[in-house]
Amino acid sequence: MKKNSRFLIALQDLDIMISEIKNKSNARELKEMGFELSGLKELEKARSELAEQISPAILNRYEKLTLHYKIAILPITGDKCLGCFVRLPTSFFSPTTSVELITCENCGRMLYIP
Ligand SMILES: [Zn+2]
Repeated sequence: MKKNSRFLIALQDLDIMISEIKNKSNARELKEMGFELSGLKELEKARSELAEQISPAILNRYEKLTLHYKIAILPITGDKCLGCFVRLPTSFFSPTTSVELITCENCGRMLYIP
């Protein structure tokens, strides 16, 4: 796995954590589970540091996707996009494919080969 996808996956994990903390209905539950809401600042700092490591074009695409989807980047584990469950063209799996991130033609999510 190349650099951008690795950072992007970590960024998405952080975004999910941040949005769960920000979600008020979750806040109390998280606190009961032992998560301190004061960690939000640290998470956001880590997020911006991580974002600097990702090429702007890819980050931009990710940001746009997250407006529509909670999960914007997914691993390919079979022959389907795990976002929309549409079968991917076999050309995606050619051993000569050197593209780091594949775009699902149906939903536009970014896919990577783990
Ligand atoms: Zn898809």
